Amino acid sequence: MTQSIASEMHAKQPKVADEDSFREFCHGVVPLDARVEPWMTKVLTGDHAERVVEQHGSPVNLVNDDPFVRNIRSLNEVAVDAGIDFEVFFARKSNKCLAFVDAVRSLRCGIDTASEEELSQVLEREIESDKIICTAAIKSSRLVEKCIRSNVVIAIDNIDELLLTKQLAGLLGRRARIALRISGFDHGTTRLFSRFGIDIHNARSVVAEHLINASDSVFLEGVHFHLDGYCPYQRISAISQCIDLIDDLRTIDLKVKFLDMGGGFPMSYLDDGSQYEQFWHEHRAALLGSRSEITYRNHGLGLTNVNQQIVGKPNCYPYYQKPTKQKWLQTVLTSEKRGEGPSSSIAAAIRSRNLQLRCEPGRSVLDGCGMTIARVEFCKRHPDGYDLVGLAMNHTQCKASSDDFLVDPLVVRKIDDRLLGVKTHIATEGYLVGAYCTESELLLQRKMVFPSGIARGDLVVFPNTAGYLMHFRESRSHQFPLAMNLIAQSDESAGLQFTIDSIDTVDV
Ligand SMILES: *Cc1c(COP(=O)(O)O)cnc(C)c1O
Repeated sequence: MTQSIASEMHAKQPKVADEDSFREFCHGVVPLDARVEPWMTKVLTGDHAERVVEQHGSPVNLVNDDPFVRNIRSLNEVAVDAGIDFEVFFARKSNKCLAFVDAVRSLRCGIDTASEEELSQVLEREIESDKIICTAAIKSSRLVEKCIRSNVVIAIDNIDELLLTKQLAGLLGRRARIALRISGFDHGTTRLFSRFGIDIHNARSVVAEHLINASDSVFLEGVHFHLDGYCPYQRISAISQCIDLIDDLRTIDLKVKFLDMGGGFPMSYLDDGSQYEQFWHEHRAALLGSRSEITYRNHGLGLTNVNQQIVGKPNCYPYYQKPTKQKWLQTVLTSEKRGEGPSSSIAAAIRSRNLQLRCEPGRSVLDGCGMTIARVEFCKRHPDGYDLVGLAMNHTQCKASSDDFLVDPLVVRKIDDRLLGVKTHIATEGYLVGAYCTESELLLQRKMVFPSGIARGDLVVFPNTAGYLMHFRESRSHQFPLAMNLIAQSDESAGLQFTIDSIDTVDV
């Protein structure tokens, strides 16, 4: 009953049909213009977004796998140019939608699973075992058993896991396929810290103690690492040291076939690097008190003013960076392999050893693949002189590890003032707030400008949220249902189509 009254109210409003107008209705006090894919523009033109939210609730996640396919293909092209055997294993934890698992299957690339449930779902969707790795941070014996039974490579993090794997393989009378996760690489005068993996300086003795006479129960197929951060030179150090390790392992008759360089391929959410620089410049000025704040109550985003000195580091993803994706991979592959002189590149070192190079990108291959749309439920003036715009959404629905999502949202207006010829909205500035009952429940810390206002019923769109932002932190606190996930496909004949992703109907 209530629903039909609500839809009737909607039906009476005139529709917006103005391409690109969604960019004009909202920007940061210091703007950070989003990169928007053509499929997103299509969805936001006309009344698709409004209909989808009406039907599936707010917020709603929309995904599209065309950019995913393009991103993976362009990594493969770099590898072809470098002449190496190469395989992408998509890190599934970065987005839960099964649309991407299905895309992996049709691309015949690989997938990296981080839990028993992720693995089960991938196996159910008939991904071949050769195309799966399990890198779960915590591995129960059930998970290890499942990997062994289904012939999936297990990335071994520690000796307890290795012993468990050997024991279970023995009990099952099968051979477990494993890769050793390595960390602690030397890099210049420092070492690369990680809580994961076996220290590179102990790796040889661990192998000698636990793997040399264990060929009945385990097959060491690969050496693996995954580093924090996006520095290509750290990867060059790690790859070089892993190649040396593989050389040593091969001399003791271990037939290591692949080197897996993990994920962390960088991407950019913004096209304009100068905007990003300007943002941090203005933010520092605001923290020093030399301009008005550009974040909620001068939230530092990792920076603090200590006696008029800015200390700390931005606690945010580098929303603009260079090089990214395939260019970054190319930089790594064409760099010199440490210890082999300037004539030997990483690619040449991999090629001459007949190694397969694997990688596990998550975020970067989802670049352009998703957006999150939420409905404005209220707009109110705070006594401090700014507006609070309340969305039917909570902060876990557009959140990864960054202090803030440094990309301007888009706004789809319910009523187009210009079409109506009346001004129902007046310009305003303020913050987007969410549904959790805490003072800190902001959807974005950054202050937004709405040059022609914003009002109940308008839609706020967070662009490019497929990598981590949609699902990594999502929670059912307050008993809010999780957001629905729809696949948006645009088809020449049928136009735009929205289908519910199977993740919302499976019950693992
Ligand atoms: C998270 C993770 C990845 C993916 O990292 P991205 O930054 O999304 O590319 C790959 N491998 C492992 C082991 C991970 O934990």
